[in-house]
Order: sequence, then C-alpha cells, then structure tokens
Amino acid sequence: MRKISVRLVFLLLFYEISISSITILEKRGGCVELALMTPLGRNKDLILQFIDFFCRPNLPYNDEAKGIQAGLLALGRLRHVYCITTQETASVFQELKSQISEEFQSDNLQLHEIALPLSDINVVAEEETRRLVFEQVKGINQGLIIASGGRKNLTHALIEAGLLYGCLGYLSITAPHGKERRDCVTDFQVYWLPIERILEQKQEYLDLPSLKDEIVENFRSLYILPLNSLNRLKQETIGRDRSRFEAELMWLQALPKADLHCHLGGEVQPKLLHAIGTAVVNEAHLHAKTALIALCSALKIGCNGHLNEIGLAKSIKDALISRGSHPLDGFSQLLKDASEISKMKPYEVNACLLSALFEEDISELMWQGCQGVISLQRYMQIGELGGSNLLQTRTAIQMTLNHLLNEAIRENVRYIEIRCSPKNYTRGGLSSKDVMQILIETAKAHESILVNFIIMGTRHKPQKRLRAHVNLAISFAKEESYYNKVCGFDLAGDENIKGFFEFRKYLKPLYDNFVQITIHAGEVGETVNIRDAIYELNARRIGHGLKLIENKEMMNYVRDAGIAIEMCPTSNMQTNGYHNFAYDPHKPCDIKKIYPLKSYMMHGIAVTVNTDNRGISRTTLSEELLRAAQLTEGGLSQWEVLQLIKNGFKAAFLPLNEKNRLFKQVDKEVFGMVVKGKGIRD
Ligand SMILES: [Zn+2]
Repeated sequence: MRKISVRLVFLLLFYEISISSITILEKRGGCVELALMTPLGRNKDLILQFIDFFCRPNLPYNDEAKGIQAGLLALGRLRHVYCITTQETASVFQELKSQISEEFQSDNLQLHEIALPLSDINVVAEEETRRLVFEQVKGINQGLIIASGGRKNLTHALIEAGLLYGCLGYLSITAPHGKERRDCVTDFQVYWLPIERILEQKQEYLDLPSLKDEIVENFRSLYILPLNSLNRLKQETIGRDRSRFEAELMWLQALPKADLHCHLGGEVQPKLLHAIGTAVVNEAHLHAKTALIALCSALKIGCNGHLNEIGLAKSIKDALISRGSHPLDGFSQLLKDASEISKMKPYEVNACLLSALFEEDISELMWQGCQGVISLQRYMQIGELGGSNLLQTRTAIQMTLNHLLNEAIRENVRYIEIRCSPKNYTRGGLSSKDVMQILIETAKAHESILVNFIIMGTRHKPQKRLRAHVNLAISFAKEESYYNKVCGFDLAGDENIKGFFEFRKYLKPLYDNFVQITIHAGEVGETVNIRDAIYELNARRIGHGLKLIENKEMMNYVRDAGIAIEMCPTSNMQTNGYHNFAYDPHKPCDIKKIYPLKSYMMHGIAVTVNTDNRGISRTTLSEELLRAAQLTEGGLSQWEVLQLIKNGFKAAFLPLNEKNRLFKQVDKEVFGMVVKGKGIRD
C-alpha cells in the first residue's frame, strides 16, 4: 500500500515538473542542453554530487529525489557546468576539472570557470559580485538551472538573476551532518523549485477574488512589485482614522496626480480676491469711494459720506449679511445697479469693494450660512465675488490662473484641465481670443505642470453665447500654435432644463471637428440626463454623474464604453449631503446618502477624483482623495487611491503619444515612491 502511494507522489511530481518546464523549453525553441550554474566553495564534492545527479541516474537516491531527477532528465541532458570561483577556490576548480575529465569522459560535459577577480567573496564589494553574476546569467539563453553549491550570498544573487533573465529553476542537494560524501546518496535531500512555481504564485495572487472586485488595472509598474509590497498597498487604508489624516494627506500630496474637472471661475479665495481687487483698482486708477457710495445707494442703505472706503465697505458687508438670505444672493444684479449709478463697469465696482474689504470680511460674505448641505444654486453663489464678476482684465485673469496653478503644483498635480467660458470675461474690453491667449501664455510659464483648457458652454445662458463658445473651442483646438492647449468642450449649467438632446444641434460643429466632450450631468438632475449626455451629446466623460448609481444597466454601459466619471467629493458632499463615515462612523446611514464612488469602482467604472471649484469648496486634489476615502465605508486602500489617480491620467483629453509620455514619467514616480517604501508611516 505504501509503495503505491509513494509511486503516486512520484508520478505527480514528475508530471508537474515536466509539464511546467517543457512549456518554458518550447518557448525557448526546444532546448535539450541543460546548463548548471553554481558557486564553487572549498569542497568540490558538492559540485560532483550535482553532476552525479544528472549523469548517474542509477545511484540509490531516495524516491523523492528520483522523482525530481526523472523530471529533470526528461527535459534534457546536462551539457554545461558553470562554476563561479574566486582566487581562493581557483585551485579547487583545477582539481574538479581533472576529476571530471577522468570520471565523466563519456558524458561530453563542458566545464566552465567564471572567475571573479576577487581573493574571496566575503571581502569584496557585493555590488561588483552581483553585477558579474547577473552578467553571466544574462548570457545564457536557455536550459539554465541554478544550483546551490555553497557560498550563500552568491547563490542568492544567482537566483535573483535567474528570476530576472530567466532560468528553469533552482536545485539544491543537502545531506545530513557527517554524510556529505558523494557515496551517501541515499540520505541526500533534493529540492527543486521550478521558476513557473514562483511566477504562478504572483499570478495567483493577482487573481485573488478580492482583487477581482476592484478594477484590476493600476499603474503598470505596480504589478512587478514584490508580493508583500502589493499586499501592503491593498491592505492599508486611508480615510478611517482621524489621527492619521495628516500623515495620509502628506502621502497624497507627494503622489503625482491629474485634475480633470477644475473651474477657473471657482478659484475664489479671500486673500486672492482682495489682491485682484486692489490690482484692478490701481491699474485703472478707479475711485473706490464713488463705487462704494453707489453700492450703498443700490442697496438702499444710508451712506455716511464721512466714512473712508474701509468704513463704507464694512457697512455694505453688514447690509449684505443682514438681508436674511445668502449675502451674495442677487449680487450680480446689485453690481449692475451700482454700475449705472457710478458709471463704472460692474466688475470695477466689485474690485473697489474687494480692495476695501479685509480677507475675513470677504470670507464671511462667501461662506455665511453655507455649512453642511446647500443647494447647487447656493454653491454657485459662494463664487459670485469672483468669476465673471471680476476676471475682466489681463491682470485679474493672470493672477487667478497663477494662484490656481501654484496651489496645484504645491501638491504635485502634474496634469490639469481647467474649464472656463472666455466670453464671460470680455466685459473689460478683451476678446474671447485674447482671454484664451492670456490663459495659455500664463500656463506656459509653469513648466512643472501640463495645463490644458476645456471651453465651457452653459445650458441656461443665451444660445448665442453657447454657439460662440463652441466656435471658440473649435478654432483653438485647430490652431496650430495652440494645438492641444484647448483639449475639449464641456456643457454645464442648469440641469433641470428639459431635453438635453436639444443641444445636439449646437454641439454638432464639435463632432465635425472631433473635439472631445465632457458634460455636467446627474449632479443634482435626473439619471436621464446622463443617458442623454452619452447618447445624444456624445460625452466621453461625465461631470459628477452621481445619479448613475440609480440605474445598473446604465452603469454597465458606462463601464463597457469606457466613459469616465469626474467625481468631486467635497463639492458633491456640499450639494448632495453624503454620509461621512470617518466623522460619523456609528450614525445610521440612509443608503441614498452613501457616496457612490466605491460602488462605481467595484463595478469597473473609470472613476476619477477632481476638485471642481478649489476656492468655493476650499479644497485641493489631495484633500479630495482623502475626502473620497472618508465618504467610503471602511476607507479606501492605497491600491484603490493609486487606481483613482491612474484613472485620472488615463481619462485625460490628451493625444495618445503625449499621454504615454506623461504616463511613463508618472508611473516611474509612483513606482519609486512605493518601492522605496515611502508610505504613510514614513
Ligand atoms: Zn463642475
């Protein structure tokens, strides 16, 4: 009975070895000559044991050893033996050589010496030894078996080199103490590890069911990481433990990133607004007091003519805040009214106000009563002090873009697509073309970030303006000198407007000119808007797409068509009130309040994380990634975060060659960070 089971093991072993190894041999052109490479120590018998193993199959090895032996002999005949020697073992090699030529004359064996120019391996720089070993292994194209003939560090280098350049596997023969002699074969323990086994382990790991639940696509270089590093990336999560948020944010800031959904007009930040206001006032020599008195008059508040600009601005701020609704409710109209009274342009009136207000006053005007969930309309109101109410001069536009890009560069954003509607910035005498040229020239000065622009049309604004923006996008996308700087078109604005398909006729010239399209849809509006954006308007990306979660079939379609979703966690949370698992882990949560990002990822949809309006949401891309994790039950693993970042680069509106070039750089950077163990803990 025992005999049968031993035979069975024997057969299984043989089968396994021969099948897996033959596959490799066939790939290498049916090689039958085996080459053994091993370090040579002071005991030449260790090498002779290997040669016996291949050339004297009838010796009385134990059954397990015989199984391995049969499998290896089925692969081919041992023809070459490479011994790595040092000056100390050079004489051992000569003895070995003469013994082999006597004993194995008929076996046609070729013995090669790889002489390391070292007195002994223990006294040399390891680097040089490794380099020499790697070079030797690289030179053998087929049939290589790595064997352990002593000198452990050399054997390790050999195995590493074998894994890198290819080998059949690793063979070792060990004997119990006192039985190291050649004639003690019965007691030898033979161990054989085919290379396929090692590679399969990695393959098995990558195919684990838990990984299948995620998109099995990440930065290419991550797949060659050691298994423990991969494991760490998959197991360590961010966005769960508040005490770690600072460290996690630092890790996110260091990673290279792409921001695909970022509005120029959303770059409203109190300090910046004050600086721009002051610059506009100084440049045009505006009489701020006149503008402020006109504002008081438009607001119908008493105006104390003895007050200076700061005093007047404070009265205006107080009046705006005391009105009950959001302080900036109807602010654009207010600027228009004051403009008529003062004979200044509305943006000039605004600049006068901003130059006279302190940062904290501007802050109060923007965010008063805007904590927690707010309507989209209110969200937009926060930005009323900036955007088209301010960006009407070269300086204002330059200052805004410079501020935005400097912030992005500070957190290692490597690629950004900035959205704007240039026609909205032409009230100070600039043409739409001027605006685009100013933006492109300003962006060019920032060499560490690749900047592209998306021209944005608005659904609820006059159609004439939409047409003008479509034409502008086409002319800039085609203009040789600005090639690629305008990379796409976005249709934004009120989602409640019925019939997205109506816009098809306006967007048609974009299709004729092959301009890439992204559309704001399903942010607060219905799922049907996403369908129309895809089917009627040919969107390749969807801005926000929060309502997609309500339709599984549409989710399938979006996934299969490779349509990317541009999610903006803080903005989404502000307008839709998603549950924050990091801050309210125990609070019961309505399923409709679960942020859909993770569900989209698990479904295989190309999710990207973006900022939307950096100023209005008071955020950065790194903070958005952390926020995405906080809005996800259990957080996001580092692997998932890298996936989100990769999706951003992948969904960029860039020509393939440029995208590849960028990918190469970024992939290398991410790999470097992960390999060097630059994780959150460091
Ligand atoms: Zn947006």
